Amino acid sequence: MTVLVRGAWVLTQGPQGELPDAAVAIEGGAITEVAGFAALRQKHPDAEVIGDGTGIVTPGFVNTHTHLSEALATGIGSELPLAAWGEQIIGPLGRVLTEQDAHEGTRLRAVELLLSGVTCVNDMFVHYNPDAMASLGVVTGLRSAGLRGVVSFGAEDLDRWGDVARMLAEHDALAAAADGLVSFRYGVGTLLGQTDALLTEGIAHATARGWAVHTHLHETREELAASQERWGERPIAHALGLGLFDLRVIAGHAVWVDPDEIALLAERGVAVAHNPVANAILGSGVAPVPALRAAGIAVGIGTDGAASNDSQNMLEAVKLAALLQKVHALDPAVIDAATVLRMATLDGARALGLDEVIGSLEPGKRADVVLFQDAVDVAVLHDPAGQLVYGASPRAVADVLIDGKRVVRDHQVVTVDEAEQVELCRPLVARIARDAGFTARGVSRAR
Ligand SMILES: [Zn+2]
Repeated sequence: MTVLVRGAWVLTQGPQGELPDAAVAIEGGAITEVAGFAALRQKHPDAEVIGDGTGIVTPGFVNTHTHLSEALATGIGSELPLAAWGEQIIGPLGRVLTEQDAHEGTRLRAVELLLSGVTCVNDMFVHYNPDAMASLGVVTGLRSAGLRGVVSFGAEDLDRWGDVARMLAEHDALAAAADGLVSFRYGVGTLLGQTDALLTEGIAHATARGWAVHTHLHETREELAASQERWGERPIAHALGLGLFDLRVIAGHAVWVDPDEIALLAERGVAVAHNPVANAILGSGVAPVPALRAAGIAVGIGTDGAASNDSQNMLEAVKLAALLQKVHALDPAVIDAATVLRMATLDGARALGLDEVIGSLEPGKRADVVLFQDAVDVAVLHDPAGQLVYGASPRAVADVLIDGKRVVRDHQVVTVDEAEQVELCRPLVARIARDAGFTARGVSRAR
């Protein structure tokens, strides 16, 4: 059975570029052809057609950095800087998270992700609950929502956990659980959050298994100072010495990097996940995205966690990725909509080593496709890429297919009942607020 996803514009991100009045043909979960709609219709007269030819068709967005561990903790401590926020919010939260919180929280945020065009999410589940194996709930959550994903356990043991072997056991369990649309990376929450024992043993463990890595690097100036104090060098230099860059790495942020560090990241093939909303909300700084890109680094866009952003709306992150550079450089031409769209799709896939599979609409790739249609946001299409980046909101996301399966149909998520999921999560949110001490401290009013 062939399905055609039709748009006034198909922005392929592949060699075919931007095609007017075109469609994507899908069969067996894969893209078989991208061409003018009339020709494809003639070839497949019985095909189901999604889209009336007025909208925009793009590859699914690749959200390159999230923490679904924060799914049930949005809106707490939004005015705190990163270090205090980690200490006062993420620490206590991480100690009470369970596998059920992970599963249900993932399904809750899946609604937000899917309705902002995300088809693949690179997640790092951060928790400090040694008995829980909580990160495994992300795998079942993603699978039940039909989302493609890369999962990792954001391990940090400094003052927060027991022994190294126990932490490595959770990585092993997570690696074993990931299959199908869900793949695995070794998580290093932050270098500074780990003891030297975990850093060394963990990297050796990952190296022996050929695992790729998901971590954070150079997010704030305070991180650089703390690294200088502890090791006498900056985190990137320390990671290099530890052999981390011998593995395939995607690093969140890279806000505070100098030209030598940018050259080093490029040389070692380290990819960067740029998180403009989280960088702005935490007052962390503006990542040198044009310089990172000019060096040849694969730079994807991420929302970051639901608590260091307070939403998983990828369209906000995409728009702000452009705006932040423009206002920072005082130059509207420093980055354009087409570039930002490329970062959110093909470059994000490249950053995760998935660009042979997803990221563009090309025959042979898996069918992760989004149709933006039926909303005033995309009614005026003088410039489809510009309209999408600067004008589109979740209300324009009409249909989403992942691996050829329709997970959003006519603006409704198919795989998660939104209202039901919200109700289901309410008591979990209240329990977390109570058990993490947020209620007693007056930072949460959840009940
Ligand atoms: Zn992060």
